Amino acid sequence: MDFRDTADQATWRDEIRAFIKENRPTRDDAPPTREMARNNPAQAKWRAALAARGWIAAAWPKEYGGAGLGVMDQFVMNEEFAEARVMNVGGMGTSMIGPTLIIHGNDEQKKEHLGAILRGEVVWCQGYSEPGSGSDLASLQTRAVRDGDDFIINGQKIWTTGAHNADWCFMLARTDPDAPKHRGITYFLVDMHAPGVTVRPLVNMGNLHHFNEVFFEDVRVPARNVVGEINRGWYIGTTTLDFERSSIGNAVGQRQALEYYIRYLRDNRTTGKVVNTHFVQSELADRWIEAATAKMLSYRVITIQAEGRVPNHEASIAKLFNTELTQRIARTAMKMIGNYGVLTDPEVAPMHGRAPVSYLGSVSATIAGGTSEVQRNIVATRGLGLPRA
Ligand SMILES: Cc1cc2nc3c(=O)[nH]c(=O)nc-3n(C[C@H](O)[C@H](O)[C@H](O)COP(=O)(O)OP(=O)(O)OC[C@H]3O[C@@H](n4cnc5c(N)ncnc54)[C@H](O)[C@@H]3O)c2cc1C
Repeated sequence: MDFRDTADQATWRDEIRAFIKENRPTRDDAPPTREMARNNPAQAKWRAALAARGWIAAAWPKEYGGAGLGVMDQFVMNEEFAEARVMNVGGMGTSMIGPTLIIHGNDEQKKEHLGAILRGEVVWCQGYSEPGSGSDLASLQTRAVRDGDDFIINGQKIWTTGAHNADWCFMLARTDPDAPKHRGITYFLVDMHAPGVTVRPLVNMGNLHHFNEVFFEDVRVPARNVVGEINRGWYIGTTTLDFERSSIGNAVGQRQALEYYIRYLRDNRTTGKVVNTHFVQSELADRWIEAATAKMLSYRVITIQAEGRVPNHEASIAKLFNTELTQRIARTAMKMIGNYGVLTDPEVAPMHGRAPVSYLGSVSATIAGGTSEVQRNIVATRGLGLPRA
């Protein structure tokens, strides 16, 4: 592989850097909370600048308000955005439901939702997992029963990220309980403000509220909110546009986190706030090498995509390595600050509590988006050709 940019890629990279320099919100513009971020004028300006170029959903075709970028151009953009630490404003609207509607939605659904997603008027959440159905998602039990022009939905979703801020949910529900499990599932768009939808917060062990339980009790959903064919929802749920899947943003973020920790170690060598032993130093060196490896794994995935092939077990390897590295980096940072690791109050804790907050937050990284065990199964069966257990 040639790691250098082609002439076109170098020009494209320069264009993105110039755009970021001109339009990025400054550090002073950063709102202290997520809620404030939603209505923050500086973020709105950044969003408008991205929207004007179709860069909110850079992978979407131009006719739907995207930029129609190929995977390599998206990769360069994502790498530069990550290096500059600028905010990605799209969320699940641009990355998940938008592409699904572009491919499987009817004209009415596209008209109703795509523009609103690009303008940032609506927030979406993903209602797939249930208390008994995570890795084995096709076993889901939430029921949708036809009643005239509507479906009536009953059931429970769990771990629903952002449901407490969401206006809409794209969800899977069982419409034919007698069919084989993958074939009786339908894909719905559900208004989160409809009667019968209840969102209950789940506070994680880092004391943060990101995800929720969502209960559906006799929720009426118009049949026009079914995406694609009834009972074929399973196959729709796996749709993506030609998105770059390299996780380059994570790989860059790992290195940036390490830079931050190493700077803190250097600055505090003599303050008594760090455990500055050879052991910690060599762990940081190991993590640095691993972060470079994570970047190479991202390059491998994007190379496969750029050749028009679909990354399969290679994407699983990158996900597995990246998320486990996130946990190792957080553990190393905790060792580096010793007993100070129990402090999370940003006013008094070293690095404003970044190490313990990352440490607690990193536990879920190997669960969300497919657990490490499931990724290892994919690597074993599809990558190494081992038999299924
Ligand atoms: C931070 C976070 C955000 C999330 N956001 C969302 C969201 O927005 N929407 C949504 O729908 N879901 C969301 N999820 C749910 C996520 O998709 C599931 O947690 C995940 O798929 C695992 O399912 P589970 O929790 O039911 O665990 P289970 O599938 O019950 O797994 C339990 C354990 O068994 C292991 N296991 C399961 N099957 C196998 C197997 N075949 N071989 C070997 N080991 C196996 C798993 O690896 C795990 O260790 C989120 C989860 C997290 C942690």
